[in-house]
Amino acid sequence: MSESKVNLLGLSPSKLEEFFDTLGEKKFRAVQVLKWMHQQGASSFDEMTNISKALRAKLAEVAEIREPEILVDKTSKDGTRKWVIQMDGGSAIEMVLIPEGDRRTLCVSSQVGCSLDCSFCSTGKQGFNRNLSTAEIIAQLRVAIRCSGGFDPSGERRVSNVVLMGMGEPLMNFDNVVDAVQMMMDDNAYGLSKRRVTLSTSGVVPALEKLGDVTDVSLAVSLHAANNELRDVLVPINKKYPIEMLVESVNRYFSKLGDKRVPTVEYTLIAGVNDQPEHARQLVKLLRKMPCKLNLIPFNPFPNSGYERPSEAAIAKFKAEMLKGKILTTVRRTRGDDVDAACGQLVGQVADRTRRSQKYIELREAK
Ligand code: SAH
Ligand code: SF4
Repeated sequence: MSESKVNLLGLSPSKLEEFFDTLGEKKFRAVQVLKWMHQQGASSFDEMTNISKALRAKLAEVAEIREPEILVDKTSKDGTRKWVIQMDGGSAIEMVLIPEGDRRTLCVSSQVGCSLDCSFCSTGKQGFNRNLSTAEIIAQLRVAIRCSGGFDPSGERRVSNVVLMGMGEPLMNFDNVVDAVQMMMDDNAYGLSKRRVTLSTSGVVPALEKLGDVTDVSLAVSLHAANNELRDVLVPINKKYPIEMLVESVNRYFSKLGDKRVPTVEYTLIAGVNDQPEHARQLVKLLRKMPCKLNLIPFNPFPNSGYERPSEAAIAKFKAEMLKGKILTTVRRTRGDDVDAACGQLVGQVADRTRRSQKYIELREAK
């Protein structure tokens, strides 16, 4: 490995074509190499038997296929699998594979930490460390496929769905995330349908406005409150881009897609904070203006969060109010909490001990 070598895992199909062009090679090489890396799981150029020896040697001089190292690989009692993987610079991130019926959904991270500081999210409490590169995002999918049976183009999909709901706010790492989701959906790479790749955002409105010009990935919107006063507290970016602006922007994104998809609205239910009858009424009223599927996420506790999960009865009551209001609603069952893999429990590790990452280390040690 050398600092000056290009990691080809991070090059989108068009960037890989440019790469071959600058090498003085034919552009179709890009498709061959993409297939080797993302469909056969190749880790070295020597494996690429439809490429001449001379070109393979040339590639090995200037490029590499480099994946992060796996630090932890744990499987929960319910089959949820969590990996902690080492990133350059000493940071680590977490990803989770959730089997459910015939789906195997991989939850990937887009940043080390997050700068948006939502009050109920342990990733937010950790603070922001850095953006992941495209290679580091796409490598999560490669690692998960290899660890769960390997690459087998003729066989069943090891990972059927990807959600960008791990650590970080994807729209704060726009370019790298867009390239990564394009590769997830590209037929020469992972070939997942646009309905099976979902980007989750807490509502970075200007980035959302740009997103529809460059991709047609599915979208989940983290709402958590239907009035601005409460959302300002739970999701502080709401102070910049309030609910009305977010709803308009989401509606615009979906009207550009020209198909029948609707967003998933995520609403983390927190006892006594946003789970009362008046909150349910406000939510029904708001969601009438935004066609969607609602996903209620019972709050997953972490040390010193100051919040609690509502009782099962309170969750059922909130759901019933939504259904009465004709909102299509599901409750996300907590998965993998015995290996700290549930939503909001992903904290990774950060190398630099800023004040906020120190706070996180204290939280971790308090466990
Ligand atoms: N930054 C993006 C994606 C990562 S968070 C976003 O906010 O959408 C993925 C989901 O987990 C979000 O809906 C988030 O609000 C939710 N979440 C965060 N902390 C949680 C917790 N402690 N319990 C339950 N859900 C949580
Ligand atoms: Fe960041 Fe999402 Fe956590 Fe908010 S909920 S702090 S946006 S990761």
